[in-house]
Amino acid sequence: MKTEDCEPAEAGGSAPVTVIHPDAGASAIQVQGFEKIDTAGSIHDAEVVVCAGRGAMEDDNFEKIKALAAKIDASVAGSRPMADNGWIPFENQVGQSGTVIRPKVCFTFGISGAIQFTEGIKGDPMVIAVNKDPHAAIFSFADYAVVSDMGSVLDALLK
Ligand SMILES: Cc1cc2nc3c(=O)[nH]c(=O)nc-3n(C[C@H](O)[C@H](O)[C@H](O)COP(=O)(O)OP(=O)(O)OC[C@H]3O[C@@H](n4cnc5c(N)ncnc54)[C@H](O)[C@@H]3O)c2cc1C
Repeated sequence: MKTEDCEPAEAGGSAPVTVIHPDAGASAIQVQGFEKIDTAGSIHDAEVVVCAGRGAMEDDNFEKIKALAAKIDASVAGSRPMADNGWIPFENQVGQSGTVIRPKVCFTFGISGAIQFTEGIKGDPMVIAVNKDPHAAIFSFADYAVVSDMGSVLDALLK
Protein backbone atom coordinates (compact mmCIF):
# COMPACT_ATOMS: atom_id res chain seq x y z
CA MET A 1 0.00 0.00 0.00
CA LYS A 2 1.41 3.40 -0.95
CA THR A 3 1.44 6.14 1.64
CA GLU A 4 -0.71 8.41 -0.51
CA ASP A 5 -3.43 5.74 -0.58
CA CYS A 6 -3.91 6.12 3.18
CA GLU A 7 -6.39 8.52 4.64
CA PRO A 8 -5.02 10.15 7.78
CA ALA A 9 -7.01 9.27 10.89
CA GLU A 10 -8.90 11.90 12.78
CA ALA A 11 -7.31 12.85 16.03
CA GLY A 12 -8.45 10.39 18.67
CA GLY A 13 -9.70 7.91 16.04
CA SER A 14 -8.11 4.68 14.86
CA ALA A 15 -6.56 4.26 11.42
CA PRO A 16 -6.56 0.87 9.69
CA VAL A 17 -3.21 -0.85 10.16
CA THR A 18 -1.79 -3.44 7.79
CA VAL A 19 0.72 -5.76 9.45
CA ILE A 20 3.27 -7.20 7.03
CA HIS A 21 5.19 -10.34 7.97
CA PRO A 22 8.36 -10.57 5.85
CA ASP A 23 9.60 -13.98 4.88
CA ALA A 24 12.04 -14.73 7.71
CA GLY A 25 14.01 -17.15 5.52
CA ALA A 26 14.93 -14.56 2.91
CA SER A 27 17.11 -11.46 3.17
CA ALA A 28 16.75 -8.34 1.09
CA ILE A 29 20.45 -7.62 1.65
CA GLN A 30 23.01 -9.44 -0.43
CA VAL A 31 26.68 -8.94 0.38
CA GLN A 32 28.56 -8.54 -2.91
CA GLY A 33 31.99 -8.42 -1.26
CA PHE A 34 34.18 -6.28 0.92
CA GLU A 35 36.27 -3.36 -0.19
CA LYS A 36 39.41 -2.58 1.78
CA ILE A 37 40.22 1.09 2.00
CA ASP A 38 43.78 1.90 0.96
CA THR A 39 45.61 2.51 4.23
CA ALA A 40 48.90 3.46 2.55
CA GLY A 41 50.75 0.69 4.35
CA SER A 42 50.62 -0.84 7.80
CA ILE A 43 51.13 1.64 10.60
CA HIS A 44 52.58 -1.12 12.82
CA ASP A 45 55.91 -1.31 11.06
CA ALA A 46 56.10 2.16 9.54
CA GLU A 47 59.16 4.25 10.30
CA VAL A 48 57.38 7.46 9.35
CA VAL A 49 53.72 8.02 10.25
CA VAL A 50 51.54 11.00 9.42
CA CYS A 51 48.64 11.32 11.86
CA ALA A 52 45.51 13.26 11.00
CA GLY A 53 43.15 14.63 13.64
CA ARG A 54 39.71 16.14 13.64
CA GLY A 55 41.13 19.37 12.18
CA ALA A 56 41.94 17.43 9.00
CA MET A 57 38.23 17.02 8.25
CA GLU A 58 38.03 20.63 7.06
CA ASP A 59 38.56 21.69 3.44
CA ASP A 60 40.86 19.35 1.50
CA ASN A 61 43.30 18.94 4.38
CA PHE A 62 43.09 15.15 4.49
CA GLU A 63 43.80 14.90 0.76
CA LYS A 64 46.91 17.01 1.33
CA ILE A 65 47.95 14.82 4.28
CA LYS A 66 47.67 11.71 2.11
CA ALA A 67 49.66 13.43 -0.63
CA LEU A 68 52.39 14.34 1.85
CA ALA A 69 52.49 10.77 3.15
CA ALA A 70 52.86 9.44 -0.39
CA LYS A 71 55.62 11.92 -1.06
CA ILE A 72 57.71 10.95 1.97
CA ASP A 73 56.79 7.25 1.90
CA ALA A 74 54.93 7.44 5.21
CA SER A 75 51.85 5.62 6.51
CA VAL A 76 48.63 7.49 7.22
CA ALA A 77 47.11 7.16 10.68
CA GLY A 78 44.79 9.27 12.77
CA SER A 79 42.96 9.99 15.96
CA ARG A 80 39.72 8.42 17.08
CA PRO A 81 37.38 11.03 15.56
CA MET A 82 38.95 10.25 12.17
CA ALA A 83 38.17 6.55 12.60
CA ASP A 84 34.74 7.14 14.14
CA ASN A 85 33.76 9.28 11.15
CA GLY A 86 35.07 6.84 8.57
CA TRP A 87 38.02 8.87 7.30
CA ILE A 88 40.49 6.11 8.21
CA PRO A 89 40.03 2.41 8.97
CA PHE A 90 39.82 1.51 12.64
CA GLU A 91 43.18 -0.31 12.52
CA ASN A 92 44.82 2.99 11.58
CA GLN A 93 43.54 4.71 14.72
CA VAL A 94 46.43 5.46 17.06
CA GLY A 95 45.89 5.34 20.79
CA GLN A 96 44.68 3.65 23.90
CA SER A 97 41.72 2.00 22.19
CA GLY A 98 43.46 1.77 18.83
CA THR A 99 46.90 0.77 17.57
CA VAL A 100 50.25 1.35 19.27
CA ILE A 101 52.90 2.60 16.83
CA ARG A 102 56.69 2.83 17.17
CA PRO A 103 57.84 5.04 14.31
CA LYS A 104 61.09 6.95 14.10
CA VAL A 105 59.29 10.09 12.93
CA CYS A 106 55.68 11.06 13.60
CA PHE A 107 53.83 14.06 12.18
CA THR A 108 50.52 15.13 13.69
CA PHE A 109 48.14 17.52 11.94
CA GLY A 110 45.14 18.94 13.83
CA ILE A 111 45.46 16.63 16.81
CA SER A 112 44.87 18.13 20.26
CA GLY A 113 47.07 15.64 22.12
CA ALA A 114 44.67 13.81 24.44
CA ILE A 115 46.41 11.19 26.58
CA GLN A 116 44.28 8.50 24.94
CA PHE A 117 45.96 9.42 21.64
CA THR A 118 49.55 9.93 22.82
CA GLU A 119 49.43 6.59 24.69
CA GLY A 120 49.54 5.00 21.26
CA ILE A 121 52.93 6.46 20.31
CA LYS A 122 55.86 4.53 21.81
CA GLY A 123 59.59 4.35 21.26
CA ASP A 124 60.30 8.07 21.68
CA PRO A 125 60.09 9.09 18.02
CA MET A 126 60.74 12.58 16.74
CA VAL A 127 57.28 14.21 16.85
CA ILE A 128 56.44 17.19 14.66
CA ALA A 129 53.05 18.64 15.60
CA VAL A 130 50.99 21.16 13.63
CA ASN A 131 48.08 22.79 15.42
CA LYS A 132 46.53 26.25 15.17
CA ASP A 133 46.00 26.39 18.95
CA PRO A 134 49.22 27.47 20.70
CA HIS A 135 47.95 25.87 23.92
CA ALA A 136 47.26 22.45 22.40
CA ALA A 137 48.46 19.63 24.67
CA ILE A 138 50.22 17.93 21.76
CA PHE A 139 52.92 20.59 21.93
CA SER A 140 54.14 19.33 25.31
CA PHE A 141 54.57 15.90 23.69
CA ALA A 142 56.20 17.14 20.49
CA ASP A 143 59.83 17.83 19.65
CA TYR A 144 58.84 20.44 17.05
CA ALA A 145 55.73 22.62 17.44
CA VAL A 146 54.26 24.40 14.44
CA VAL A 147 51.49 26.81 15.48
CA SER A 148 49.59 27.34 12.26
CA ASP A 149 46.63 26.37 10.17
CA MET A 150 47.60 23.03 8.70
CA GLY A 151 46.48 23.93 5.19
CA SER A 152 49.28 26.42 4.59
CA VAL A 153 51.87 24.16 6.24
CA LEU A 154 50.82 21.23 4.05
CA ASP A 155 50.93 23.43 0.93
CA ALA A 156 54.48 24.43 1.81
CA LEU A 157 55.56 20.84 2.51
CA LEU A 158 54.01 19.61 -0.72
CA LYS A 159 56.04 22.14 -2.69
C1 LIG B 1 38.08 5.31 26.82
C2 LIG B 1 38.57 6.24 25.73
C3 LIG B 1 39.44 5.75 24.78
C4 LIG B 1 39.92 6.59 23.78
N1 LIG B 1 40.80 6.09 22.85
C5 LIG B 1 41.31 6.93 21.93
C6 LIG B 1 42.29 6.46 20.99
O1 LIG B 1 42.67 5.28 20.97
N2 LIG B 1 42.78 7.35 20.09
C7 LIG B 1 42.39 8.67 20.06
O2 LIG B 1 42.88 9.44 19.21
N3 LIG B 1 41.45 9.12 20.92
C8 LIG B 1 40.91 8.29 21.83
N4 LIG B 1 39.96 8.76 22.69
C9 LIG B 1 39.44 10.12 22.45
C10 LIG B 1 40.36 11.21 23.01
O3 LIG B 1 40.03 11.45 24.36
C11 LIG B 1 40.18 12.53 22.20
O4 LIG B 1 38.84 12.90 22.19
C12 LIG B 1 40.68 12.41 20.76
O5 LIG B 1 42.00 11.90 20.73
C13 LIG B 1 40.64 13.81 20.12
O6 LIG B 1 40.98 13.68 18.77
P1 LIG B 1 41.54 14.94 17.96
O7 LIG B 1 42.77 15.43 18.64
O8 LIG B 1 41.64 14.53 16.54
O9 LIG B 1 40.34 15.98 18.04
P2 LIG B 1 40.14 17.29 18.91
O10 LIG B 1 40.41 17.04 20.35
O11 LIG B 1 38.81 17.81 18.53
O12 LIG B 1 41.27 18.29 18.42
C14 LIG B 1 41.29 18.82 17.13
C15 LIG B 1 42.49 19.75 17.09
O13 LIG B 1 42.66 20.22 15.76
C16 LIG B 1 43.09 21.56 15.81
N5 LIG B 1 42.73 22.13 14.52
C17 LIG B 1 41.47 22.28 14.00
N6 LIG B 1 41.53 22.77 12.77
C18 LIG B 1 42.86 22.96 12.49
C19 LIG B 1 43.55 23.46 11.36
N7 LIG B 1 42.91 23.86 10.25
N8 LIG B 1 44.91 23.53 11.42
C20 LIG B 1 45.58 23.15 12.52
N9 LIG B 1 44.97 22.66 13.64
C21 LIG B 1 43.62 22.56 13.61
C22 LIG B 1 42.37 22.16 17.00
O14 LIG B 1 43.08 23.30 17.51
C23 LIG B 1 42.37 21.00 17.98
O15 LIG B 1 43.49 21.05 18.86
C24 LIG B 1 39.49 7.94 23.70
C25 LIG B 1 38.60 8.43 24.67
C26 LIG B 1 38.15 7.58 25.66
C27 LIG B 1 37.19 8.15 26.69
